[in-house]
Parts: sequence; structure tokens; C-alpha cells
Amino acid sequence: MTKQNNTLYTRRQFLKAGSITALSTNAACRNINPAHSSQVIVIGAGLAGLNCALALQNQGYDVVVLEANQQVGGRTRSINKNGTTINLGGIEIGDGYQRFVGLCEQYKLNLYEPKRASRDLCVHIGGQLISQDDWATAKANPLPEHLKATLPSRLQSHFHRGKNPLKSKTDWIEGQHLTSDQSEIEFLKEQGAGDAAIEFINHTGNFNSVETVAALHYQRAIANFRFGTSKKTLRLSGGNQSLARSMANSVNALHTGQRAQSIEQTSNGVTVRTDQAEWLGQHCVIALPFSVLRNIPLVAPLSDAQRNAINELPYTKISKLVLAVEKPFWEEDGFGPNLWSDTSLERGFLSYSEKGDLLYTLFVNGRNAQQLDRLSDEDATKTLIDLLNTSRPSTKNALRPLAYYSWGNDPFALGAYHHFAPNQVSSFARSMTQAAGRIHFAGEHCARANQGMEGALESGEFTARQLIQTS
Ligand SMILES: Cc1cc2nc3c(=O)[nH]c(=O)nc-3n(C[C@H](O)[C@H](O)[C@H](O)COP(=O)(O)OP(=O)(O)OC[C@H]3O[C@@H](n4cnc5c(N)ncnc54)[C@H](O)[C@@H]3O)c2cc1C
Repeated sequence: MTKQNNTLYTRRQFLKAGSITALSTNAACRNINPAHSSQVIVIGAGLAGLNCALALQNQGYDVVVLEANQQVGGRTRSINKNGTTINLGGIEIGDGYQRFVGLCEQYKLNLYEPKRASRDLCVHIGGQLISQDDWATAKANPLPEHLKATLPSRLQSHFHRGKNPLKSKTDWIEGQHLTSDQSEIEFLKEQGAGDAAIEFINHTGNFNSVETVAALHYQRAIANFRFGTSKKTLRLSGGNQSLARSMANSVNALHTGQRAQSIEQTSNGVTVRTDQAEWLGQHCVIALPFSVLRNIPLVAPLSDAQRNAINELPYTKISKLVLAVEKPFWEEDGFGPNLWSDTSLERGFLSYSEKGDLLYTLFVNGRNAQQLDRLSDEDATKTLIDLLNTSRPSTKNALRPLAYYSWGNDPFALGAYHHFAPNQVSSFARSMTQAAGRIHFAGEHCARANQGMEGALESGEFTARQLIQTS
């Protein structure tokens, strides 16, 4: 999608259109006057970049959005397979997502409550399948007596229950809570968790490892849910990428296929080079995950803390395999359809698609996702299906692969979502979102109050406000 064809832009058009435009990289063109002071380059057309661009555009700014991919929406990627909508990235929309819900109303997009599939769980451990009712008394259950009745999937919330110091969605960043900026493993040990419980939590937690994630990260997620007034979760008809597409249609100048290769603050503006062109702006909003930004040369007056944040903020590796259910395999083996496995399958979830067919999603995190990332998508799909069929024979010929996606291998994401490592909230959570000269940051990692898609929208809005105040 290219709304302005930059390769056909003449000098006259450039002068007429203002100074944010693509210049061919020959020296003569570089002499053209730099940008008007209120004009902005936004890099990245995910929800954060798009919301920022629209907020600025609505205030009369000339904004250009540069997107590396051929499509907008970033980590809200959704696909349609024979009429079945599949969200490869962001899925759940809390009904407390005020911005997301408001934008869907504005663009007349339909939010609906998904039909609930069974939540019954089957534990697969040491090669054995165990029903959730039998878990407490199962011989293979290695947990100490007082924990035996707790399912592996509920252990982390068990240890955090009653220990969350956060009293609002935003106070995770306040000084008084920074004692929780310790690692999850230290926190778990302090609560008396033994090796078996820690290993279970490590195996399937939404992070890379208990050593490298801060306990505050989990506490923030719980506070977000508790104080975010999300009573139910919603889905967007056609998939979450539909919102990004609608927003992109309202942006005056958006260029896909423009991968930022370098970003440089100069004496009077910012220059962004893509492999096709050079873009000049008065300001630049970088709405990219830091996992990606750390590989792009960036010349800007960054503080040490900001530089550290860009280089070190961890991103959870996640791979998903979405399968169509052709036979209710759980009826054959009598176990709950959902799976918690001590193998690299990790977790399997049953859900209904928008059109009402049953889907089964394998959701692999951290170390196991990294192992899969060494394989091609086809081999990773085969590896997971073979393992599932061996672990749970009733799944043989009962499931048909629809889509496999590795967020770790996506060059424009390099991970699914950020999390803070121990001591990172205290060392850079505040400073990493601050403007560095003419360079501003946005993205889910920069949000204060919300997380995920709502966090991305929040940060886009916040950054636009910050830029307006300082320009
Ligand atoms: C598997 C998974 C499950 C999730 N589940 C949920 C959920 O249930 N609920 C929820 O709220 N959130 C969820 N999320 C998180 C949510 O999708 C993200 O937080 C949100 O979409 C991030 O938006 P963003 O704008 O910050 O970043 P992105 O969407 O990553 O946008 C960044 C954009 O920059 C582009 N880009 C990258 N490099 C360059 C470059 N060099 N030059 C130009 N452009 C570039 C990318 O292509 C992308 O379009 C999930 C995410 C994943 C991956």
C-alpha cells in the first residue's frame, strides 16, 4: 500500500507537498530545504504508530508513516483460511480496552463475545495423560503435598496470590514497588516454591525464563486485569488487523515496503533512510519494538538508560500452530481437550472461530519456541504435530494444520511482546519512553497504564501529545 508514489515524486511536487517526502539519494536532492517544523515521520504502522499518526494528523500536522512490511498492523496480524479468521498475534480484547473499543465504534467494526469452548484440561507429564480431576492424586504429580491439587497452569497465580503490592494499573513504575523488581525465580523461592513448581512455571509462563523476567512483570499483568475493569473478553470480526487497516485508510501518507535502515537526528531535523529512499522530518516517532530497533543504527541524544533499554529489553519468543478440529479427539480418549504438557508442546487450547468452527492452538513460549525457530515453518509444524500425535494418540487424523507463525522469526517483530528483566523497571522503565531530542518512542513497551493492543494505542496517543507539547 502506497498512497504517495515516492519514486514518481518530482522536485516541484516535493516543494509543494512540504518537506517530509522521499528523496532520491543523489546529492543534488539533499540540498532541498529540510522539513517544516511541525512535520513528523512515524516509523512503524502497528497500532501505536497508526494511533500516533492519526492523533498528530488530527491536530494539523503533516505526517508520513513508513512501514517495512507490505501490510499494516504489525503484531495484530490476522489471516483468513477458507472463511476462518485466525489471529496470529494479538487475540483478546478486554471490554475495558477503551481506546480499542472506541476506535471500533468509530470505524464501524464489529466486536463480539466469542462462543466459549470447554476449559477442561488434560495434564501430560512423563509421557502420561492425566485428567484435571485425577491430577491431585496422580503418581506422576511431583509437587509437594500442599500443592498437589494445584494444576501446573495455576501455579504462578497460586504463589502470587495475596502478594501483589500494586493498587492501580499505573503504580508498577512507582518507587515503592521496586522491591518486586527482583527475578521471578527469587520471588518464587521466597514464597517457598520448590524445584518442581518452579520448573512447571518456567516451562509455560508468558516470558522467556523465570531467571530473566521480573516478578513485577507478572504483578503488573494481574493489576492490569484487576483494575482495567475487563469483565469479559471480546473479539473483532475479521481479526484484529481489521482495526489497523481501517486506521491506515485514514492516514494521509503511508508507505509500505519502507524498512528503516538508519535514523539520524541532524542539526535541524531527522533523516530516516530506507533501502529505497531518504526521508526528512522535523520530528520522528519510532513506533518499533526495541527488539527490532536495536539492529538499526540510531544517531540521537539518548541517555545511557535509553540506550540500555533499546539494547536489552527482552521480548518473549512465541510460536503458534493453529489447527482445525476435524474430530473431537477428547471424546475418544476421555480427557479434557486443553493440554498442559511437560514436553515442548507446552500448551494446547480449544476455541471457537468467528464462524463457529473449533480450532486447536498450540502455544509455545521461551526456550521451546527458540528451538522451533531453528526449523522451517513446515518442519516446525510437522515436529509439533508428530509430538502431539505421540503424546495424545487420539489427535491422529483429528486435526488439520491451518497456520504456523513464529514471532521470534518475524524480522519486523523478533518476539511477541516485551517483558522487563530483573532491575530493569528501576533502571530504565521511566526514561526509555522519554523523547531524545527530536526522536520520540511509541509502542506497547512504552505504555504506562495498559498492555498489549490497548497499551500500543495508549502509547501512540501519549507520544503524539508529548510531541505536540514540545514542538
Ligand atoms: C502471539 C501474540 C499474542 C498476543 N495476544 C494479545 C492479546 O490477547 N491481547 C492484547 O491486547 N495483545 C496481545 N498481543 C500483543 C499485541 O499484539 C501487541 O502489543 C501490539 O499489537 C503491539 O503494537 P505496536 O504498535 O506496539 O507494535 P507492532 O504491532 O509490532 O508495530 C510495529 C510496526 O513496525 C513495523 N516495522 C518493524 N521494523 C520496521 C522498520 N525497520 N522500518 C519500518 N517499519 C518497521 C512492523 O512491521 C510493524 O508493523 C499479542 C501479541 C502476540 C505476538
